[in-house]
Amino acid sequence: MQVEMQGLTKHFGATKAVNDFSITLYDGELVCLLGPSGCGKSTVLNMLAGILPVTKGKILFDGEDVTKHPPEQRGIGLVFQNYALYPHMTVMGNICFPLEIQNVPKAERIRRATEMAELVHMGDYLDRRPKQLSGGQQQRVAIARALVKNPRLLLLDEPLSNLDARLRLEMREEIRRIQLQTQVTTVFVTHDQEEAMSISDHIALMKDGYLQQHEKPQALYDEPANQFVADFLGNPPINNLEGTAQGDRFVSNDGSSFVCRGIEVVPSGTKINLAIRAESFVMENEKADSFMKCKIISVYQLGKEEMAQVEFGGNIFRAYISLENNIKAGDEVYLSLKDRGVFFFDKESGRRYI
Ligand code: ATP
Repeated sequence: MQVEMQGLTKHFGATKAVNDFSITLYDGELVCLLGPSGCGKSTVLNMLAGILPVTKGKILFDGEDVTKHPPEQRGIGLVFQNYALYPHMTVMGNICFPLEIQNVPKAERIRRATEMAELVHMGDYLDRRPKQLSGGQQQRVAIARALVKNPRLLLLDEPLSNLDARLRLEMREEIRRIQLQTQVTTVFVTHDQEEAMSISDHIALMKDGYLQQHEKPQALYDEPANQFVADFLGNPPINNLEGTAQGDRFVSNDGSSFVCRGIEVVPSGTKINLAIRAESFVMENEKADSFMKCKIISVYQLGKEEMAQVEFGGNIFRAYISLENNIKAGDEVYLSLKDRGVFFFDKESGRRYI
């Protein structure tokens, strides 16, 4: 099912939780709502579910305006962080429950619940109660219970937050497998950028109730719309070198400078952050106007590469340097920049110069 959100807005008194939020989800895709705590992700999800009335804006399901429809008329499956399974019921009982409410005949209930339990790999645990299951297994049951009604839209609110790091990784792959198998349009709320990057078709990144960018994961990383997006995605975080654009040069605050490809788009004299991903540096053997003269502060090995802490013009940053360069703390080196992973952001507004 295609889902359109048009100018969605939610205010709680003076708190403007969500403002003018507009995106379209295509049939069968998984979209992550990503952003720091309090940015409005759950509020968007709850408006989609019909749990929260909207202050302004519209929600369309396959072109039909459902903005005022109650939750039970929306055909939605919901999964929360805390599983919310019924403790006195077995796995089978929990998965069957939504069908019981719909008065689905018993034989069909059991057939569909068994099928769902198999899909989430819980077929061998049908007689267990929730407290006899691990967190990951409980979440599988919660997903089966949400899917058994054949929802048009699956909504997952931080479904993996209660799991330890390893299980989290395993379960996110599981959720993606189940979603691809069922082809159900899915919205997944998370504040974990790695989680979002690894499972989404598209990511909608939010801040302070506003959509910052809605893109494919790689495009969000490669072409961030503004400083916030660039800072939010990537591990290690992107480097921000403070300075000023002067013609074709980047001049750091202490006066050190180099010729920086592309910087001419920034009006001369503008204070900027030169944002560079750690993987976008290249070691050079000689001096040149377009190379940065840097000092290595420290080095540590990461498999076939080394991560160096480097200084240029008073700015300290991280750079991946290949092992064969044999660098050590105290070395003076020349670094050039790749085209990819280098951005100019206005220091004041965070807007990107392209
Ligand atoms: P988290 O990751 O911490 O769950 P979130 O991005 O999901 O955060 P929301 O829960 O959507 O954020 O909250 C957005 C803003 O709206 C926050 O400032 C929050 O305090 C506020 N808010 C949410 N629900 C209510 C409510 N029922 N009444 C008043 N303010 C609310």
